[in-house]
Amino acid sequence: MILNSKVRTDRIGSDIDALAAITEPGRPWTRRAFTPMFLEGRKWLEKAMQAAGAVTRIDAAGNLIGTIPGKRPELGTIMVGSHSDTVPDGGRFDGIAGVIAALEVARALRDQGVVLDHTLEVVDFLAEEVSIFGVSCIGSRGMSGTRPAEWLARESDGTTLEQGITDVGGDAHGDAVRRDIKAFLELHIEQGPVLQDQKLDVGVVSAIAGITRIEIIVDGRADHAGTTPMGSRKDALTTASWIALGVEELGKALASGEGHFAATVGEFEMSPNAANVVPARVRMLIDARAEVREDMLRFIDELDKGVVAIAEKTGVTVSTPRLVSDNPPTPGDAELIDVLEAACETAGARHRRMASGAGHDTAWMARITKSAMIFVPCVDGRSHSPDEFATSDDIALGAAVLLDAVKALDTKLQGTE
Ligand SMILES: [Zn+2]
Repeated sequence: MILNSKVRTDRIGSDIDALAAITEPGRPWTRRAFTPMFLEGRKWLEKAMQAAGAVTRIDAAGNLIGTIPGKRPELGTIMVGSHSDTVPDGGRFDGIAGVIAALEVARALRDQGVVLDHTLEVVDFLAEEVSIFGVSCIGSRGMSGTRPAEWLARESDGTTLEQGITDVGGDAHGDAVRRDIKAFLELHIEQGPVLQDQKLDVGVVSAIAGITRIEIIVDGRADHAGTTPMGSRKDALTTASWIALGVEELGKALASGEGHFAATVGEFEMSPNAANVVPARVRMLIDARAEVREDMLRFIDELDKGVVAIAEKTGVTVSTPRLVSDNPPTPGDAELIDVLEAACETAGARHRRMASGAGHDTAWMARITKSAMIFVPCVDGRSHSPDEFATSDDIALGAAVLLDAVKALDTKLQGTE
């Protein structure tokens, strides 16, 4: 039940259906960034933003922005939004729910005859998902000044990211970095089962987990699988298996603590991978995610010690684990979290705090402004799949929380100027 809100469930539902219809034919639901389908989706969004009374533009980073000027624009901007691109064969709600909820906030304000003091902007970030250029969060990284310069030369299908940004209407060499945004809020489907299992309406995100990727190379020795005695082998696969089981054990131990933690051996390549050869070499890439930085540091430390012990036991050479990438967690802004929780109460949403194990545009926006996000339930936690589903009622309740939070911030942020 949504209390005292002008948020309309029917508009949210029909918008999501309209965007879902813009998909690669025969491949629901696919609207990858930089493709003709993506541009078509954006055209639809642009019109919807304009119908909500917003002035639209594409910024230099390739983000679609709908602006509703405030009564006192010198106060700066409150921005709300997410992303409209999908993974291949993805869902209708990942990202889209947040863009439509932001749009609904703008419409509900207009329906109520409310013009904020701050300028309100609805944003559709460019390429949040891993794009055809192999990188993600291109728009939010552009807006926050964290897009690596060398990315522009990345190629796909005979074109470059630089050209891709131009083709969506941006300017890869223009200044996209924003200094006027006072707060950023994002609604997103949870992409996990917790809210559904606990019969809750909204997750207020305490932190977006930091992501660390660690490469380990196991160097054994290729030998004849039939003639080499069991006791005199240097089998890279069995040693790598001990490591994989150790990663799971360590991950479970850390996950039982206070903060969210997950560790996965996501990539595993064995060579020569032939039936009659003792495995000579394994390369594994571990993906580890921690809400609390200390947990990640402990994981790295224990992994270092663990592989030394395993190498000693098996007599197979194991490389020192190499950090391929290492990003710290992004805590939600404390003031925004308070405002969002109060908004949950106002809207009648049952809520809890929870960490996000997935990365989001919010993590990049937090580099330049107060940022926080909320999750709404998705059925059985399914996501990045055509089966992904969230009800319009659940999204509308989340949008009502956003609406109330935006109104509260419009007043509250003035006190902190
Ligand atoms: Zn997403």
